[in-house]
Amino acid sequence: MAMRQKEIKKTKTVCTYCGVGCSFEMWTRNRHILKVQPVADAPVNGISTCLKGKFGWDFVNSPQRLTTPLIRENGRFRPASWDEALDLVAQRLKTIATQHGGDSIGFIGSSKGSNEEAYLTQKIARLIFGTNNVDNSSRYCQNPATEGLFRTVGYGGDAGTIEDLQKADLIVIVGSNLAENHPVIASRIKAAQKHHGQKLLVVDPRKHEMAERADLYLRINPGSDSLWASAMSRYMFEHGYADDAFLAEKVNQVEEYRASLADYTLSAVSEQTGLSVEQMTNAAEMIGQAERVCILWAMGITQHSHGADSSTALSNLLLVTGNYGRPGTGGYPMRGHNNVQGASDFGCLSNIYPGYENVTDAAVRKKWAQAWGVAPEALSDRVGSDNYMMIQHAHEGSLKAMYIIGEETAFSDADSTKVHEAFSNLEFMVVQDIFMSRTAAFADVVLPGCPSVEKEGTYVNTERRIQRFYEVMPPLGDSLPDWRILTDIAARLGHAWHYTHPGEIMAEAAQIAEIFAGVDYQHLSGWQSQLWPVKPDGSDTPLLYTDGFKFPDGKAVLWPISCQPPQEAPDEEYDLWLNNGRMLEHFQSTNQTGRGDRMFSLSPNGFVEVSPQLAEARQLQQGDWVSIASRRGTIEVPVIVSDRVAGNVLFMPIHHGKPGVNGLTGEHHDPDVNTPAYKEIAVKMVKLAHP
Ligand code: SF4
Repeated sequence: MAMRQKEIKKTKTVCTYCGVGCSFEMWTRNRHILKVQPVADAPVNGISTCLKGKFGWDFVNSPQRLTTPLIRENGRFRPASWDEALDLVAQRLKTIATQHGGDSIGFIGSSKGSNEEAYLTQKIARLIFGTNNVDNSSRYCQNPATEGLFRTVGYGGDAGTIEDLQKADLIVIVGSNLAENHPVIASRIKAAQKHHGQKLLVVDPRKHEMAERADLYLRINPGSDSLWASAMSRYMFEHGYADDAFLAEKVNQVEEYRASLADYTLSAVSEQTGLSVEQMTNAAEMIGQAERVCILWAMGITQHSHGADSSTALSNLLLVTGNYGRPGTGGYPMRGHNNVQGASDFGCLSNIYPGYENVTDAAVRKKWAQAWGVAPEALSDRVGSDNYMMIQHAHEGSLKAMYIIGEETAFSDADSTKVHEAFSNLEFMVVQDIFMSRTAAFADVVLPGCPSVEKEGTYVNTERRIQRFYEVMPPLGDSLPDWRILTDIAARLGHAWHYTHPGEIMAEAAQIAEIFAGVDYQHLSGWQSQLWPVKPDGSDTPLLYTDGFKFPDGKAVLWPISCQPPQEAPDEEYDLWLNNGRMLEHFQSTNQTGRGDRMFSLSPNGFVEVSPQLAEARQLQQGDWVSIASRRGTIEVPVIVSDRVAGNVLFMPIHHGKPGVNGLTGEHHDPDVNTPAYKEIAVKMVKLAHP
């Protein structure tokens, strides 16, 4: 027995699923993952994990893992050596850049990869190709939330820590299925409800678990959140709940904002929101009377054609009531992927360098150019193409090449038929991934990267916490850590960066980007972590806005919005609203949870939730099959009759099927941030005689 135990290796790692950022020990013997062992020292989760973090690791040793580079030849992939594959990638990208310019190439970085890998992705795009065409999957989910925070308070991150959430008197959850998508945070809130009398207000079209647990649940009509939030703000001003001292001292544009609320009385928004004046009054009184309020939101807010405005409206409401800068207050967008926060923080966005430094600012460009050893003119002064624009440009032929790392764009982007056509138009496409994903199937070269347990690096979780993860086992086959692949590509393009460890990449980023100034691997070793912004002495910032807001005069901004209707809504022909979202058992495209029986067997099939009223009207029963058609496509699914949904609103998980929900979604998007309006789909439903 003693001998057997000696063989067991225990390594600290960070969960590779959601943005909560749980860390734990992984116990292994050779490549065999024996168990995930949470430890009390873990700063986010302590001894808690959820189902996926505990059991969702069989993808690591899946026989479907890519273990060698692949090159497409005569329509089929053949194995290739690293030298051959990397030489080909470098030569083709160089040729395309020479012929068509650097802006003819687009890069999509991974929100599952490390911060260091995100940093290198944008460095290759900006420094080597002179383009800001770089993005990550936050475009699909969280950019509207970040935009709302940029407009009002200044930093693109959660206001405080997960621990701070427990200090709130009232938690408001809007458009977030927290119990399934951020389970450990949901557990914290459940505990605060039970032990500290914390109140919970949930606003959502779907009655999910947290709605069932809420002190007050408002079943709002889809796409009307900004109306509700603006009406709440108006109520606060009218009923003496606005924090006048806070507003006078710390906030700009108060009167302009107040004037912009003129039309948003409770009675005026009642019909569009589907909420009675009494329901909204109760909610407003809860918010107004609470000393400390946190608002959590996610894709129920952001994946609409006006998600940035809705996010702004929520942050405005917090400002009006003085709910920033104290523990237990503030805005908390819930980040989805494990490192979607970090991929954005470290510059995989078309308008910013790492640390949210603007590409259009000449002084910023000069600083980065100096640090990278080039003239400022070598760096583009134009905002680049984001994910949405890259697909449009590829579709119309002006984007010639794409380099996609760890993103399942072919399945996860809206209007997947158009995305597939765009990929087919490209002259050259590289995909770096751990599996032959639906996106990789379109590539000319596929490069086998590594999951987190086969490399080192850092992630940033939803609360801005930077944490290290360590190599649990060596890379499988000939696969390589993604930072190594990117370094090798850069060398072939004439930039020998000589990184031998991700810590050196972080050191470089910290030397240049102000908000990471004191971040280093020493401070992050073991279970230690740092929450950005981090000062040069290593001191970090668990709670933002204690000394003012991130604007030149230190004051926040109340940002007037004009509430707009959804760009697509049910009509006579497409008479139902299809909502969609995620499940506890799965993660996004299922490229991880779908690669082994352990998680996938818990929920192998797709379905559509139909309300009891609609089921009765359409004579549908549990298990009947229906076709769901939008203006873009049709899918067939079995019915679950459930009061989680109401009236003419359907719900479908995004994880299953070919093509899945994105065979139905359209190109309409938020014009402020180009996030697809995934949750605005008008559909018709027909009962099928047979599946
Ligand atoms: Fe992983 Fe999120 Fe679950 Fe924590 S809550 S174990 S980070 S999936």
